[in-house]
Amino acid sequence: MATKSIAVLTSGGDAPGMNAAVRAVVRTGLSYGMRVMGIQRGYNGLLSGEVTEMNLRSVSDIIHRGGTILYTARSPEFNTPAGVQKAADKCRDMGIDGVVVVGGDGSFRGARDLTNAGVPCIGIPGTIDNDIASSEYTIGFDTAMNTAIQMVDRLRDTMESHDRCSVVEVMGRRCGDLALQTGIAVGATSILVPEVPFDFKKDIVDRMTLTQKTGKKHFIIIVAEGVGGVDKLAKDIEEATGIETRATILGHVQRGGSPTLRDRVVGSEMGAVAAKLLYDGKSNRVVVMRGGKIVDLDITEALNMQRVFDKNLYDIAHRISI
Ligand code: ADP
Repeated sequence: MATKSIAVLTSGGDAPGMNAAVRAVVRTGLSYGMRVMGIQRGYNGLLSGEVTEMNLRSVSDIIHRGGTILYTARSPEFNTPAGVQKAADKCRDMGIDGVVVVGGDGSFRGARDLTNAGVPCIGIPGTIDNDIASSEYTIGFDTAMNTAIQMVDRLRDTMESHDRCSVVEVMGRRCGDLALQTGIAVGATSILVPEVPFDFKKDIVDRMTLTQKTGKKHFIIIVAEGVGGVDKLAKDIEEATGIETRATILGHVQRGGSPTLRDRVVGSEMGAVAAKLLYDGKSNRVVVMRGGKIVDLDITEALNMQRVFDKNLYDIAHRISI
């Protein structure tokens, strides 16, 4: 039988730890005697043939680096039936027998479509938002949270010195996990997430005035990107409480930086499992974390799952940060 050739690409938003996954796919693939190719710039690179053969040294010195050495992109062309067909034809031309896709839900939809067009694909969840229903954890989340708490700790120093309130927007358009965990870790007075509606007076102003009466002088409000409106919120808080309030949007700094231990280890394990699945002839699977273990699921089944927000943890945060 001819040597099996697999490829790996990163797609959608970049996330720290994607490099650990790429490295593990490459080295695991090679260890099973497969050829491994690296596709640059996500599905775009597949369409344009930006593909290079990888060897053991192609992935040296990358485990500690943020971003992705394969670069990433969004590909409107691939997101059409003709684009998927073209990508499948390219795979056949280049002798690619299977593809590991590291990215979010959008990238998994692409992987499902490419599988249906005859190229077996395996997905790995890589996004700092932790917004993939089928997996308890996505590569990049831990690094992003740690970056966010470092930034907020710095803001806290200046808030403390001036007896101010700081309203901080963290990433997470549809998912409040980053806001929730960061909020707990920095002792935020209020945490606003897209999953739970909030009442300005009850959930912010009353909590601030109550804690002020017990001697608290500075305040942090963490807001998920999906809730937004931090500039207006800061103005409204200042008006309602008389406490000087500043808004800060952390933005893309949360996406960068050297991956934490957790992202390096989870990325490595997921990458190794994905390469082995292709070696075993599996297709249309995603490698996910469930019950703290790395397992694989059917992509279509995974895409149909609904995210469950950790309301219990949210309630704990509410109770203790007062
Ligand atoms: P993420 O993977 O982080 O969710 P996107 O939603 O931007 O990021 O998806 C990344 C890429 O995956 C898109 O640019 C597109 O090429 C491909 N993609 C997204 N949705 C689909 C879809 N429904 N069918 C096929 N490909 C898709």
